[in-house]
Amino acid sequence: MNLETLTKKLINIESISPNDAGCFDVIEPILRNMGFESKRISYKNVENLFAVIGSDGPTLCFLGHTDVVPTGPEELWTHPPFSGEIHDDHIYGRGAADMKGNVCAFIEAADIFLKNNSLNNFRIAILLTSNEEGTPEDGFIDELLVQLKEQGEKIEYCLVGEPSSSRKVADTIRIGRRGSLSGSLKLIGKQGHIAYPDKVINPIFLVSDLIHTLKNKKWDSGNEHFQPTAFQISNMNSGTGAGNIVPGELAMDFNFRFCSESTSDQLISQFEQILNDLNLKYELSWSLSGNPFLTTKDFFINQVIASINQITGHEPVINNGGGTSDGRFMAAMDSEIVELGPLNDSIHKIDENVSLNDLKTLRDIYIELIKRLAT
Ligand SMILES: [Zn+2]
Repeated sequence: MNLETLTKKLINIESISPNDAGCFDVIEPILRNMGFESKRISYKNVENLFAVIGSDGPTLCFLGHTDVVPTGPEELWTHPPFSGEIHDDHIYGRGAADMKGNVCAFIEAADIFLKNNSLNNFRIAILLTSNEEGTPEDGFIDELLVQLKEQGEKIEYCLVGEPSSSRKVADTIRIGRRGSLSGSLKLIGKQGHIAYPDKVINPIFLVSDLIHTLKNKKWDSGNEHFQPTAFQISNMNSGTGAGNIVPGELAMDFNFRFCSESTSDQLISQFEQILNDLNLKYELSWSLSGNPFLTTKDFFINQVIASINQITGHEPVINNGGGTSDGRFMAAMDSEIVELGPLNDSIHKIDENVSLNDLKTLRDIYIELIKRLAT
């Protein structure tokens, strides 16, 4: 099955997180035919597929996911989201760019390499999960990595196929990601009749000073690899619906995207300090979805850059922006991690698509990378 046919076939599967919905059933026999040994490890609601070929030596692992985010209103799509329609070299559908197309590029790269070369003291692995986009309650890839590590599995190099490219394929790679820390705050005031201001404490007034402070707060200055830590408010709710009641509570959800200059503990204590300095009454809960990670050794990064240069004739820039990725779990394996994938301008949007030509370029870069590492 070629890149185009396999990508279309995977897009046809409605694998909304945390469901693989049968993508692995398509992929696993292809990998086995190529000589990979594979196993599936499920945890909570997440399914994972780990396939490896080669008996010894360092391992290059391609990391990807088969789950996709919801489509949004289907009637807004020009090409139905699970159709995999092809127009002008672009294949359309939810997950085309993020990241079923690139999973297929991994597979075809390994296939072409193995048809023309034998593996000598080197291993190629493909690791796929069905809950990269979803919530931690369904489980992530971290539990599988703990199990693999316990079994003595080692992954020296990890190529994460997330859509890293900005304007031109392979113009940008990531060697790290910021951490993500979310919080839910409940500010507690005192409910009462709107005509009796001395008998109420309005949490909407209370929050105004808080927002002002948060908006101007500098959490850190960033560093050469990361932008400064950013704070954003995503949701805020208060009010009973009635026009003559001052509400007793206000709820606010917020998120930190934090760089390696701050830790989650530091941010939590600074945030609480602000609340305490303003004498606010509150309840607060936190959820840490990922710590920052950064590849500091340069061997693998340089091999990826050289491979890109060889195939495209240009040098990528290193940019560690964007959301977090499953690379954060791979950092626990002490792997050198680089993210390189297709353009990210349509991901999670209506009419998500990827250029088939770009996928072929990525495939060729991956073949070049395997050659450089394995031979
Ligand atoms: Zn993704």
